[in-house]
Amino acid sequence: MKHYNVSVHHPRNRVPVFVTTNAKDAISMKSIQLTEQLYSYMLQASLKETPVQSELRETTALLPGSVMQIPPEQGQFMGLLTKLLGAKNCIEVGVYTGYSALSTALALPKDGKLLALDSDPQNTKIARKFWKKAGISERIDLRIGPALETLDQLIAEGRHNSFDMAFIDADKTEYQEYFEALMILLRPGGLLIADNVLWSGRVADKTAVDEDTVALRAFTLSLRDDHRISTSVLPIADGLLLAVKL
Ligand code: SAM
Ligand code: CA
Repeated sequence: MKHYNVSVHHPRNRVPVFVTTNAKDAISMKSIQLTEQLYSYMLQASLKETPVQSELRETTALLPGSVMQIPPEQGQFMGLLTKLLGAKNCIEVGVYTGYSALSTALALPKDGKLLALDSDPQNTKIARKFWKKAGISERIDLRIGPALETLDQLIAEGRHNSFDMAFIDADKTEYQEYFEALMILLRPGGLLIADNVLWSGRVADKTAVDEDTVALRAFTLSLRDDHRISTSVLPIADGLLLAVKL
């Protein structure tokens, strides 16, 4: 299989843009560039949120860490994936104020379950409040503590091959370790979603060598070459990596 060592030439974002390996082997960039106007149109034309989801976003927007929350179109996409998989058991690593968990839980059947992992007892209080308000709190089991420890516990409890879908959105330098644990916990055919793999574009900037950026680059590359999964990176929000366990 061929892997592309790409260089991107884009003359001030004008189309056409080419990603090339060499002169004979050019891939034209067909992803649309989102302007604010187009983004706003996309939301108006397609976003469906419940009133509690909107209220949670508005409440979170007032917090200093609000950039951590996934955008609503991503929540809608994750809900769609949950339904597409017919998922009953999901797991999330990185909850914050609970928007992604709420979006997943709303898409689960009534007897579905989402195990939600986070180390922060404060922001997750907000999450609990809104999950209750949305009437889905019985579908979410929040475990407070370092995620790697909780994942190890789940493995020790014998929860192998028992999750249909997993979402990774906590410490970027731990993604590889979350992934290894989740490969044990996901069922074959289960879906893993890793957030922020395009990291505001910093992953493509060679001068960016901070530990989060370096970790995200290494994580994405190692999943590409991992024979236990099939993957795809989608330029949705801050970049989503989807991986299905084979
Ligand atoms: N998915 C959330 C949403 O939709 O709003 C955003 C999650 S936020 C980007 C990351 C969260 O991961 C924070 O709430 C933080 O407390 C948590 N976190 C970071 N490192 C962690 C760790 N080692 N163990 C557990 N949680 C961790
Ligand atoms: Ca994120």
